[in-house]
Amino acid sequence: MRTFSIEIEGLVQGVGFRPFIYKLASSMNLEGTVENLNTGVRVMINTRNGSKDKFIERIWAEAPGQSHVESVVVNEVGFIAYQGFSINKSNTLSQKVTRISPDIAVCEDCLKDMQTQVHRINYPLINCTKCGPRFSIITGIPYDRPMTTMAAFKMCEKCHDEYDDVNDRRFHAQPVACNMCGPRYSMTIDNFNVSQMNDIIHLTAKIIDEGGTIALKGIGGYHMLCDALNAEAVISLRRAKVRDAKPFAVMCRDIESLKKIARPTTEDIKALQTWQRPVVIIKDGNILPSSVSGGLDTVGIILPYMPFHYLLFRELKSSVIVFTSANLSDEPVITDDEEAFNKLKEQVDAIVKYNREIANRSDDSVGRLIAGKFRIIRRSRGFTPTPVSVDFNAEGIFGAGAELTNCFAIGKEKDIILSQHIGDLKNAASHEFYRQSYLRFGEIFRFIPELIARDMHPDYLSSVFAEKMAEDKGINLTVVQHHHAHIACCMAENRLKGKVIGVVLDGVGLGDDGRIWGGEFMIADMLEYSRILHFDYVPVAGGNAVSHEPWRSGLSYIIQYLGQEEISEKLALVKLTGIQKSLLYKELLEKKINMAIYSSAGRLFDAIAAITGLCLESKHHAEAPMRLESVIDQSIDDHYNYCLNKEVISFGRAIKEIVSDVEKGTGIGEISAKFHNCVSSAVIDGIRYTREISGINDVVISGGTFQNRYITERIINQLDEDKFNVYYNKNVPANDGGLALGQVAVAAARRNAGLI
Ligand SMILES: [Zn+2]
Ligand SMILES: [Zn+2]
Ligand SMILES: [Zn+2]
Repeated sequence: MRTFSIEIEGLVQGVGFRPFIYKLASSMNLEGTVENLNTGVRVMINTRNGSKDKFIERIWAEAPGQSHVESVVVNEVGFIAYQGFSINKSNTLSQKVTRISPDIAVCEDCLKDMQTQVHRINYPLINCTKCGPRFSIITGIPYDRPMTTMAAFKMCEKCHDEYDDVNDRRFHAQPVACNMCGPRYSMTIDNFNVSQMNDIIHLTAKIIDEGGTIALKGIGGYHMLCDALNAEAVISLRRAKVRDAKPFAVMCRDIESLKKIARPTTEDIKALQTWQRPVVIIKDGNILPSSVSGGLDTVGIILPYMPFHYLLFRELKSSVIVFTSANLSDEPVITDDEEAFNKLKEQVDAIVKYNREIANRSDDSVGRLIAGKFRIIRRSRGFTPTPVSVDFNAEGIFGAGAELTNCFAIGKEKDIILSQHIGDLKNAASHEFYRQSYLRFGEIFRFIPELIARDMHPDYLSSVFAEKMAEDKGINLTVVQHHHAHIACCMAENRLKGKVIGVVLDGVGLGDDGRIWGGEFMIADMLEYSRILHFDYVPVAGGNAVSHEPWRSGLSYIIQYLGQEEISEKLALVKLTGIQKSLLYKELLEKKINMAIYSSAGRLFDAIAAITGLCLESKHHAEAPMRLESVIDQSIDDHYNYCLNKEVISFGRAIKEIVSDVEKGTGIGEISAKFHNCVSSAVIDGIRYTREISGINDVVISGGTFQNRYITERIINQLDEDKFNVYYNKNVPANDGGLALGQVAVAAARRNAGLI
């Protein structure tokens, strides 16, 4: 008989891994122990010849669905006499940490238990080792009940028996709870409180069916709900959210009800049903009122993922409800019960909550299918804090992220962990959320910063935070150019080495020359880059107003390519903007007041949306390009002209052709298609040119513009035909939400090369 120590790393805590090992060992009559370490799980077993290998083989083959085994290291140790197989208490000595599971949608077995288990009939917070809250309730490590917001609830005897019973699905399920001992729901209507679960469900359903609005506490924050088919209800919900014009997500009872309002593909449905339960952007079916998604041809869909959602749909007549984060304006989603009461009681007809705290805020994640794969756009619940595994050492590196769509990132050995979606740091509450989340990540991942990476823009609030942190802690800081970080992000996710052709199309990012870049072709590796080509520079005036007033970009492009004299009412855009305002804008440009010079794809898309009259002022981030994409006539293959000359791709000819098409009354669908085809062709030509001069065949495409499915698929298809290797983000957003990952990657490369 010999004793072996088996250390297993990966996502192996909070997903029923120790019970799995226990059962496996017991079934093979092996004696020993299993325990959680900060780094993963350690199994000690006594075996005779052969059974050790079989045991390890079965660990790989039979590990629970939500877990992810990354490595198994076996060492023989001195013989220890074990009696039977047991689970030891957690060992917390090491400074290294293991993975923390994201929150997991309720499983089928728990939904069945909710109808059959006496102490859990209709219990809306039912969970087991396969499902339930994780990241959202964790306050420290290791992942044990006292280190979660379940610590306040003492298990009843029944729950305790299940928790201790290795043959039970709730064996060591930390959030285990039931109607007797767990957190409870309550409802506030006006000043009345309702505490009976059946009444709460019944009244919530009734209010929604009668056109009212509800605030409902979710896993990572509050949501606001109403009947999605009731236009008036949708409008009053929009009013309640104060200045929020973003498209609303919609929760469907099931796939059948989804098919009544949208046109999902098989891949869309698969993505919707994953345990992460993201919002998936799907082709709209023109049934929902236009106020749901603001007139776009897509709609964000989500399926139920909390037991409460299922209970609600059992009573609801409506099978489709608006399901949007409860936040006012651009503030982070509300998690605190008192704040919810104070801010929402006047805005909604009732508030439904439960009395367990949310430790870590997270929004619903969002993504869409592009080129056959689900690509994340907003990375939060279900995905955070799953790390991105890279093939270099990133230990101790903090990436501060961007400013507008912020996530930060921390490096733990060969893992880079992105924070949940934080949002726009210019908003004071979001900035506080950023600070708090950083502290929490420090605790739960035992992160000690050694090196800090920030964007080149010194005024980004993330950059200001990074500078202060570097100064306070006396540690090194390195500055990473925005588009280099985008390329590095995609390279890190795809584990690319060596030089690549990097194409980044996005809104804004400060360039080396002090101008705002965003239509960039680079030859880059993790360490450095050289800019080969860029979209033509165009001056746009207005400072912060530029991004939400596309008419400014429209006039700028017209002045640049048609000439100053063209600012007359002959142009549709000038007519719409007003001649006086247009002339005033021209003057601002001439005097260079509040003006910046852009090579940005974002500005180009804004300009076209404005020149065609489709979107002069955008009510939410990236509305103009989203609307342009949404009107494309897919049957048109023709494109406007562009010019690739030396280092510049100019869309001057396209602008002239578009103005002429608008004058002729050409349909917006045709104009939009020809424009998108034009940008795609220009990008492909730019990439071919870069390959010619460099011989590089690996292409990385990143930046917010590549959330545009039409352009991305068109470019990928052509590049495939041209025998390029094309890489694109998948589990990390291509937009600024992924920037911090790239910052950490570049900083790691510099450190490993001895440059820092
Ligand atoms: Zn379950
Ligand atoms: Zn209980
Ligand atoms: Zn960017």
